[in-house]
Amino acid sequence: MDDLFKIFIEQLRDGHEERIDERFDPDFLEVSEVDLAFNQPVNLQGTASLAENELILHWNIDTCATIPCLICNEPVGVPIEITDFYYSEPIEEIKSGVYNFKSLLRETLLLEVPQFAECNSGKCKKRNEFQKYLKAPSDLSEEEGYQPFADFDWK
Ligand SMILES: [Zn+2]
Repeated sequence: MDDLFKIFIEQLRDGHEERIDERFDPDFLEVSEVDLAFNQPVNLQGTASLAENELILHWNIDTCATIPCLICNEPVGVPIEITDFYYSEPIEEIKSGVYNFKSLLRETLLLEVPQFAECNSGKCKKRNEFQKYLKAPSDLSEEEGYQPFADFDWK
């Protein structure tokens, strides 16, 4: 499976652009944390090409991450969509002539994972329960209010 992540620089010579259209098993991300999981395939469409002395990658990436709901802690699927991702790598850095983009793709996806999510499209059913504990006393608005001139003598 590792071969799927390889770009052969020689094949890009003479302006040859390589199309990438892959659906990766999320296992390659090697993420299995309580607070983060990837259970959906990672779709990658785009190109690899050479410009001057650089390898240029231009991609659209999408997948889905699972993180716990901020309120009830149930797992929430969060779509991750990265469009027009650009990356360049100097060819002289690619000593073997083969660029493996696995870790680049992994890091790019991990950076896009939001820190918080709420289940039920932001309307967690436990939200009310939760807010009950957070609610500040709001009796002030029901009092008569502050009347600075109430005792002023208008003579
Ligand atoms: Zn929730």
